Amino acid sequence: MDNEKLKALMPITSRPSVLMHRGEGSYVWDVEGKRYLDFVQGWAVNSLGHTPVEVRRALETQSALLLSPSPAYHNAPQLELAATLTKLSGLHHAFFTCTGADANEGALKLCRKWGQLNKSGAYELITTHGGFHGRTLAMTAAAGKPGWDALFPPNLPGFVKVPFGDAEAVRGAISERTVAIMVEPIQGEGGVVVPPAGYLRELRQIADERDLLLVLDEVQTGMGRTGRLFAFQQEDATPDILTLGKGIGSGVPLGALLASERASVFAHGDQGGTYNGNPLMTAVGLAVVQTIAEPAFLAHVREMGARLTSVLESLVGEMGRGSVRGRGLLLALELGVERAVEVRDLCFEAGLLLNAVRPTTLRFMPSLRVTPDEIDEMAGILRSVLGRISE
Ligand SMILES: *Cc1c(COP(=O)(O)O)cnc(C)c1O
Repeated sequence: MDNEKLKALMPITSRPSVLMHRGEGSYVWDVEGKRYLDFVQGWAVNSLGHTPVEVRRALETQSALLLSPSPAYHNAPQLELAATLTKLSGLHHAFFTCTGADANEGALKLCRKWGQLNKSGAYELITTHGGFHGRTLAMTAAAGKPGWDALFPPNLPGFVKVPFGDAEAVRGAISERTVAIMVEPIQGEGGVVVPPAGYLRELRQIADERDLLLVLDEVQTGMGRTGRLFAFQQEDATPDILTLGKGIGSGVPLGALLASERASVFAHGDQGGTYNGNPLMTAVGLAVVQTIAEPAFLAHVREMGARLTSVLESLVGEMGRGSVRGRGLLLALELGVERAVEVRDLCFEAGLLLNAVRPTTLRFMPSLRVTPDEIDEMAGILRSVLGRISE
């Protein structure tokens, strides 16, 4: 590592002092040639693994054709991706973004506009404690991350927070100012928190009864991560607004804001952006969606999710404490002791990338193409690290 150059980088987090150089499938190599088995995958981003052929092919073809015609003109990949996603989700309109946070900003704008048009200016969103929706100022205010309230005051008003997984609490928080309910189907950054069965369906019902919009942030749970194309399909709870990011680009910056006809209230001029819907990223998104939406692909995710779950459950059995939670290939191992960061660092040394999502919790978000052998290899490294810390 060149420490002089490191000084030029804005210090926003601590990172191990290696340079990541090359990736392929479930593996990544640093510049020294050390190989790591990757169960972080760009933060649940590389849905098809590192440098997948589908993404490389789409980038190569599209980059030789057209990069940015400007948002003033149509391009074919954007139209194709919008048609594909609306068909698959049951929603009606799509707007493309570069990040998940930006998609959520669009969702917030739609809600506020819809409130102006339909609910006498109601503007409040009910969000959840422990929720995460991105790092813009508005989404920092929407989040329920402990301590985030105090980061950049004054906070954007208009968010009321309730406990996650508690539909009755949502009912109790509704006032004449409420316009929408916004949740993640499973809280990702919050620690892979799975709500009780029926939660999303109940939120759908509340939204219908009280004439509110239901916004689902599937930036992390979408695009096959939980074993369905979208997590809401598990409960048939189609939202009015759906946001996507992370896995939809499988490594390139792409997000999407989808809305039903009822919720799609932007007038010309209300929304836009220089790179939004650019053909380079939407061509990749199209290749990714077409790959993931295949029934056999999603069956593989469910199968590998079951295998990873049972492997982690064996580790819990060997440790004599802890638990496993999550769905599909978004899983967490609760260690029962505050040693997740130490385990993550020891795994890193041993050539395994994991995320310590909580002080007591490890998160697993491998490539959706992960193989049984790779899961077993991961378990072998983790088992030996867990054995060492219990000595
Ligand atoms: C990662 C994430 C976001 C933010 O996406 P960015 O691309 O980092 O802006 C929003 N919501 C959820 C649920 C996420 O996991």
